[in-house]
Amino acid sequence: MAGEPQDDCLFCKIVAGHVPATIVRETKTTVAFRDINPQAPTHILVIPKVHYPNAAELAAAEPALAADVLTETKAVAEEEKLESYRVVFNTGAGAGQTVFHAHAHVLGGRGMQWPPG
Ligand code: C5P
Repeated sequence: MAGEPQDDCLFCKIVAGHVPATIVRETKTTVAFRDINPQAPTHILVIPKVHYPNAAELAAAEPALAADVLTETKAVAEEEKLESYRVVFNTGAGAGQTVFHAHAHVLGGRGMQWPPG
């Protein structure tokens, strides 16, 4: 059920401390950790502590929590001293989502192309 921890969810396990991650920031509602397979010199994921399968469902169910995630992307970028950066919410397998717990990618430290692949 949305909002409830899922036994088979990797990011719920990171939140619970059952899977290791390099956590860079934590708030009451969010965790930010370094992506295990970085696609840029800085690549950090910001997730809500509670489980929603993607950003759209998070925003629909708990808009204030979605705002917390977005606010944390800014905090991460500031801590990493990123002058410009990209925030990505892959939503759905066709868009490249592989972990079905809502998350924002914060990518920076190199030039970016547009459109993304
Ligand atoms: O948007 P998508 O669902 O593809 O992003 C999931 C991300 O989670 C990937 O960038 C992957 O490298 C990352 N990941 C991680 N730690 C894990 C497993 C996946 O940072 N243990």
